[in-house]
Amino acid sequence: MTVLLLNASYEPLSVIPKRRAISLMLRGRVDAASEESLHMRGASSTVQIPRVLRLRKYVNVPRRGARWSRRAVFQRDNYTCIYCGIMLGDLKKGKAMTRTAFTLDHILPKSRGGRNTWGNTACACASCNQRKDNKLPNEAGMKLLWEPKIPRVNYLIASSEVPDSWKVYLEV
Ligand SMILES: [Zn+2]
Repeated sequence: MTVLLLNASYEPLSVIPKRRAISLMLRGRVDAASEESLHMRGASSTVQIPRVLRLRKYVNVPRRGARWSRRAVFQRDNYTCIYCGIMLGDLKKGKAMTRTAFTLDHILPKSRGGRNTWGNTACACASCNQRKDNKLPNEAGMKLLWEPKIPRVNYLIASSEVPDSWKVYLEV
């Protein structure tokens, strides 16, 4: 179980283990930023640790990009096709869409020099990907429903399930 750490500006900074959260709390560096809390049993008492903590003092941190991976792109896009918007579990021809019905699309096709980057890749359903083929979206008469971006925080590697109390800060 982990805790989301926010900067004083409410920007997410990182996902930290409970022990580090306690240490920040004991040193008076943070305030609670969520109602939800975790419990940790100590020698004599149980400590409550808010699921989201906010630093009292703003820290200037150079932003490190989240590591690109196929799986991370699917998670960023929440298994939603960037062209037609069909989602995991939606029905298509009477059948529910499964994870395997989604493919990784390169906006600028690989064959034309497109790279594995956050901005050039997105989740697409198999039929949209097939229809797009080796073309750019506009050449295929298709539109991106959103602009693929670098995820704001590298929470993807920390946990595949994002607690509700984090969502307001992570814009997911
Ligand atoms: Zn589609």
